Amino acid sequence: MNRPLPIIRPAALSADPAESALPCALDLDQAALEAVLAELREPPYRARQVFRSLHQRLVGSWDACTDLPARLRMALAKRYRAVSGDLVVQALSKDGTRKRLLRLQDGQEIETVAIPATSPEGATRLSVCVSTQAGCAMACTFCATGRMGLARNLTAGEIVDQVYGFGRDDPDHRPTHVVFMGMGEPLANYAATVAAVRLLSSPEGMHLSQRRLTVSTSGLVPQIRRLASEKLEITLAISLHAPTDALRAELMPINQRFPLKELIPAAADYARKTGRRVSYEYVLLNGVNDSLTQADALIRLLPRQLSHVNLIPYNATDAEYSATPPARAREFRDTLTAANLSATIRASRGRDIAAACGQLKAENRRGRADASPEGSTPT
Ligand code: SAH
Ligand code: SF4
Repeated sequence: MNRPLPIIRPAALSADPAESALPCALDLDQAALEAVLAELREPPYRARQVFRSLHQRLVGSWDACTDLPARLRMALAKRYRAVSGDLVVQALSKDGTRKRLLRLQDGQEIETVAIPATSPEGATRLSVCVSTQAGCAMACTFCATGRMGLARNLTAGEIVDQVYGFGRDDPDHRPTHVVFMGMGEPLANYAATVAAVRLLSSPEGMHLSQRRLTVSTSGLVPQIRRLASEKLEITLAISLHAPTDALRAELMPINQRFPLKELIPAAADYARKTGRRVSYEYVLLNGVNDSLTQADALIRLLPRQLSHVNLIPYNATDAEYSATPPARAREFRDTLTAANLSATIRASRGRDIAAACGQLKAENRRGRADASPEGSTPT
């Protein structure tokens, strides 16, 4: 089990309890903002100005909205918060990965991770992995979040503010990519997920290309079909993890509702309709789903066109699994690519800070139960 590196526990971002009881302005779309500002007897252009301050300049506080009149800033501050939550802890990995535990207004805690990388062309990237729910109801056996159960859906503002937080942290290296692969099942929180995609790609906001956004799902077929008709250009990732119904149902209970004969055609239709390559996620579990016979079954299952298999090294949780040895992972990948099925092994990042989804929260809980956990620095 990897031990976390020293953990930084900063002061809360908004320590004022009166402020944290307010609704969050990041949950208002432009139309809602217009209504709020009309009520405050402000001209309509102010709504756009406020939207840009929140979603493009990433102000993080009303005080920083220096282009707004002071009386308007005060009026807004009385009614809305400008950020969605407080930073509880941040863990920094040797490889530059930053993982945060955030506390939301109602006390729910969620995780978010920023992963720096260099593209094949040499460009600097910063990918943020966002949570879409506090916990998850899907109960996948290998997933730390799945073992917590679902507390609640996040709002669109709570989703995008995970990205904005890293943007505020280092304005010269803002996030360039967002993957919806943190805690929770994005398509079980469909409306907020799609709203977050639209906010992140808004020309009045961070204006991230939708091609740089990836939504990952455990396989909710009706929502995959609905997503295909949203006219978005995002990448869809399907968490597959097994080539047969029997094994997949064992690892992922959702397979009992939506078996492979429904899931794979829905994913293939998504690819056809959007022209975007679907990414099939496959966490390699030693002796469970990593035999070459299973690689052959995967080859028979997946379409060659517009498919990519992402082989993921397993991050240890409390579950009884272990990671596939690297040599076997390469053999598995080579079997797929030899059959013209595109496949890569994902580089494991932030291992030293328990970067698998749900793990920092679990570690932090253990840390609180034990007054001085090894490897962490309580305040
Ligand atoms: N609920 C969505 C998105 C969040 S999980 C989904 O399941 O797709 C993001 C990815 O992390 C999924 O592919 C999931 O299967 C994978 N994952 C979960 N636990 C993991 C672990 N312990 N090690 C490696 N990957 C894991
Ligand atoms: Fe939920 Fe995804 Fe974890 Fe499954 S893998 S329990 S769907 S977060």
